[in-house]
Amino acid sequence: MSRASTDVAIVGGGLIGAWTAFFLARRGQKVTLIEKGVVGAQSSGVNFGNLRLQGRFPGQYPLSLRSQELWEDFEALIGEDCEFEQTGHLYLAYDEDERTKLESYAQVSESYGLSIERVGLTDLRRRWPWLGERAIAATYSARDATANPRLATPAVARAAARQGADIRENTRVTAVENAGSGFILTLADGDLLSCGALVNCAGAWALEIAERFGETAPLFPAGPPQFVTEPFPYRIGPSVQAIDGSVIFRQIPRGNIILAGYPRTAADPQANRAPVPPVKTLAAMKALARVAPMLAQCHVIRVWSGIEAYLPDMIPVIGPSETTPGLFHAFGFCGHGFQIGPGVGLCLSEMIVDGATQTPLGPFSIGRFRSGPTVSDKFRKEFD
Ligand SMILES: Cc1cc2nc3c(=O)[nH]c(=O)nc-3n(C[C@H](O)[C@H](O)[C@H](O)COP(=O)(O)OP(=O)(O)OC[C@H]3O[C@@H](n4cnc5c(N)ncnc54)[C@H](O)[C@@H]3O)c2cc1C
Repeated sequence: MSRASTDVAIVGGGLIGAWTAFFLARRGQKVTLIEKGVVGAQSSGVNFGNLRLQGRFPGQYPLSLRSQELWEDFEALIGEDCEFEQTGHLYLAYDEDERTKLESYAQVSESYGLSIERVGLTDLRRRWPWLGERAIAATYSARDATANPRLATPAVARAAARQGADIRENTRVTAVENAGSGFILTLADGDLLSCGALVNCAGAWALEIAERFGETAPLFPAGPPQFVTEPFPYRIGPSVQAIDGSVIFRQIPRGNIILAGYPRTAADPQANRAPVPPVKTLAAMKALARVAPMLAQCHVIRVWSGIEAYLPDMIPVIGPSETTPGLFHAFGFCGHGFQIGPGVGLCLSEMIVDGATQTPLGPFSIGRFRSGPTVSDKFRKEFD
């Protein structure tokens, strides 16, 4: 058994942990990131790869836009390519209620400085002729993008290591306790690690850490089912999403269509499984064919999901603990943490080094659950 010490210990080597380690190490902090498996193997490595700006929770725009700047600068910042591509994102409406919803999303996005194009019927057919006849309107955001999740998190962790961070894979944190003004972590091999600050970004496992300090959240695991088809000649530019939430898809340059179908599937963090029942594949393909009839006959060649932490208001917990000085939480990203990951890491590093961040994070405090959770419409539609 050995005993080591570090300024900041980070539990969880997903995208959030990796970016946090990178920014802290860049600020000269001694950082140890502990990951029970390998870096980026959970949600952060299996997601759809969408860096969507349209239609976000309004209070998240400052964080989301800060994150997009970091994605846009990924190669210069991290020194590796993650297949970041500014593909744009097309939201489709199929009836008047959906058109109204599109318009309200667009107005919120514009109030934060995004440029949203309203696309009428004629332009819709001219610009994206593979769309079916039934969509009546769309909005298009050119700044929305995609990246390859399999590449991103390991690249960020390698960049953090080059800045001096100690990245420990295949090492589970089995216990955490307060010790004076800091913490002592017990690792699965019996080693002890003491630290001044502790960051809990353990994804769907985050309550194992939070509850040791008397804090909790109504978190539960689930995963959006993902599918990939055989390759088609490349012609679909943007990510395409039906605003009713039934399907989102994009085509990678090799030609395959990646699609996500809803509602989400059950996930089991203890067994480390998120199986996708066959009925979900059929439903997703039906939803895909409604949007792009030419894809109706294509074959799905692989199906998967991931273990993601959800909260009933469909927004994450990001910020300091309300019981324990020096402890910070960032979990429960509800299916949209890939896009905001860089900004979350940057904000956490600012909170730890400077004592505050310029980005407003009030809506994401862990304390919001004390008076009972708010249940969002999106959550009711999918999970009730
Ligand atoms: C199928 C799918 C599709 C998605 N699509 C998108 C998308 O298109 N766009 C988007 O923005 N978001 C998307 N998301 C959401 C996004 O992937 C997640 O919000 C994000 O990756 C969360 O990152 P994380 O670092 O919090 O969690 P994770 O990636 O789950 O990382 C947490 C890590 O903590 C480790 N850990 C847990 N407990 C311990 C412990 N005790 N000791 C050591 N290590 C521990 C775990 O092994 C894990 O690696 C999707 C998610 C899924 C599952």
